[in-house]
Amino acid sequence: MYSLLNLSGDSQGCLDLVIANVYPDGLVCPWLLHSSVLVREKYLWCSSCRRKWSLKRQFGFGFSKLSWRQILALIICWQGKHAPGDIQIATGLSYPTLQRWLERLRRKLPDGKAAALAGELEIDDSFLGHQKHGNQAIVSGVLERQTGAIRLAVIPDVAQDSIEGFLDRYAEVGSLIYADAHASHVGLEDVGYGLVLCNHDRGHFGPTNRIENVWSCLDRFVIRTRDRFLKRFLPGVLQEFQARRNHPELFRDPFTLLKVWLFRFSGQNPFVNC
Ligand SMILES: [Zn+2]
Repeated sequence: MYSLLNLSGDSQGCLDLVIANVYPDGLVCPWLLHSSVLVREKYLWCSSCRRKWSLKRQFGFGFSKLSWRQILALIICWQGKHAPGDIQIATGLSYPTLQRWLERLRRKLPDGKAAALAGELEIDDSFLGHQKHGNQAIVSGVLERQTGAIRLAVIPDVAQDSIEGFLDRYAEVGSLIYADAHASHVGLEDVGYGLVLCNHDRGHFGPTNRIENVWSCLDRFVIRTRDRFLKRFLPGVLQEFQARRNHPELFRDPFTLLKVWLFRFSGQNPFVNC
């Protein structure tokens, strides 16, 4: 895990760090890949194309006032699951600004909605938050045993239609599903899935223990990264949690992530197949 201690104290030093890590073979211009590039803190200049461009804009930070040091500190703290108060100290951002940035960073992650999971799948549902405060949500989840990949989504209730709607989207028909013996799971064979039911009441947890483990990790994740659980932030939180599971490489250092965002800016999406 990359640490704040690796960062240079000033913004120019941080920009140099970004360029050295994102362009290990040397910085090139975005139009014709010229290497005749002049680096300034606010812009880059290609002396062959005779054009300037903004590297911040290429990473999706074009309209922000954040310095390069703030950008790197924000990404590093977020990747390291620091609490909002600690990220505020590291970046100097106000609380509302920080919350907006965290939401933006989450939205820039791959959402994993493109492909359904297949093969042997474990499914389960979990309740998050407290009903007493009208702040509770039900999350449905599916885990692919072969790859460990997960898909999570908020569902309105645990009725058969809601569960089947979730699986329609995230589980290929013909997959073998392991689930608890809840009434809404019993009909899954009729809609084209293989089904193995286990009865939690009799201490028969084995077949779904990996998806059960996802819930305890999600609970800890919410507690660690939010001041408190808020239903309205849940879709973004789920997207981030899911991306951390499915693409751990994106959370090891800030530069891998910036490279992905750089590609996205130029019109290629490396996540079309995930
Ligand atoms: Zn050029």
